[in-house]
Amino acid sequence: MPGYELFGADERAAVNELFDEGGVLFAHGFAAMRKRFHVRELEAELAGTLSAGHALMVSSGTAAIKVALKAVGVRAGDEVITQAFNFISDIEAILDIGAIPVICNVDKTLGIDLKELELAITPKTRAILPVHMLGVPLALADVIEIGRRKNIPVVEDVCESFGSKFGTRYAGTLGDAGVFSFDFGKVITCGEGGAVITNSSTIDKYAREYHDHGHECNPSLPRGRDTRQIQGFNYRMTEIQAVILKAQLKKLGKIVRENEQRFRALEQILSGLVELRVIPENSGPIYDTFIFFEQDPEQRSAIIKILTDHGIGTKNLPDALDWHSAAAWTHILPRQVTDNLKRSAQLLQTAIAIPIFLQKSVEDYRRLGSALAGIIKPMAKV
Ligand SMILES: *Cc1c(COP(=O)(O)O)cnc(C)c1O
Repeated sequence: MPGYELFGADERAAVNELFDEGGVLFAHGFAAMRKRFHVRELEAELAGTLSAGHALMVSSGTAAIKVALKAVGVRAGDEVITQAFNFISDIEAILDIGAIPVICNVDKTLGIDLKELELAITPKTRAILPVHMLGVPLALADVIEIGRRKNIPVVEDVCESFGSKFGTRYAGTLGDAGVFSFDFGKVITCGEGGAVITNSSTIDKYAREYHDHGHECNPSLPRGRDTRQIQGFNYRMTEIQAVILKAQLKKLGKIVRENEQRFRALEQILSGLVELRVIPENSGPIYDTFIFFEQDPEQRSAIIKILTDHGIGTKNLPDALDWHSAAAWTHILPRQVTDNLKRSAQLLQTAIAIPIFLQKSVEDYRRLGSALAGIIKPMAKV
């Protein structure tokens, strides 16, 4: 799955080059000591790749969520609707602003349950934060339609699905803003990093100022005299992160193509035998995880044993269930909230997520599929 598998000579060369150019590691200023501004170049490349109006690089995906929520207008006391299957960042970012997370269950797409979403909207709702988990954009058209109809901004969390599409457009560019993560487990990586994508210059302006202590980056003023209007924070990306990510960005097409070959090998063998995760219509996944549901706990254990024997293991489900299921986060959420998420917790407990690694061959996945097919009892036909 992740970019770290294709991490090496290109990334190392990019860092060396940065030092040869003068070794300025800060995204702003020091013009006399440097030849290029890599964070700014990366922003232009990323916006170009995604056909988005604006891209802002930040220090992490978690920072990107917080910056985007602030930029679409979320403030203390507001409600933000998100989903039970996500990463704890989504809830932490909402709480860090002083806002209130309202959490809907997920359906068999592993995306937000649309009926619950409609019911969760109140006059205090200030944003909807759907999360495209494990490579698949959820039923985005419906979420966007609900947001537009109720006049509520939609921020897409695309941290786990960078490069995925909905229709002809990249996930992250359909909502009012989209956020990405480039931590070490993600599709492409620079160790830690994130981005906020938007087509709105107002959202981009706020996000840009907020992530950099309020700096307006007036071209006519030195940084020390720069003007500010809002209280910000420091969520900046460094030049080292940017040069590494530029090298990784070039590999995105290859990663998605090769993921798909391996994913299809499994799908061909298993599709009639297991209940697959539902992929919403128009959704263009990046195929980095093959997910199905298995109700029988004994069968589940047998499947996981085969995965382990093949050196592939499982990803998130069930490996890191507690890190991705809001039902488990009683340390930051009230009991009434986590109790409402039992349906999602039960669904997630039956899910098995097979990671797609590029260091494993298509043939390896074919062999794995056949081994699984050998022990899986076909689904009862109703
Ligand atoms: C990884 C991840 C994040 C946070 O990204 P970091 O860069 O690790 O802070 C947010 N949301 C989801 C769904 C993620 O998987």
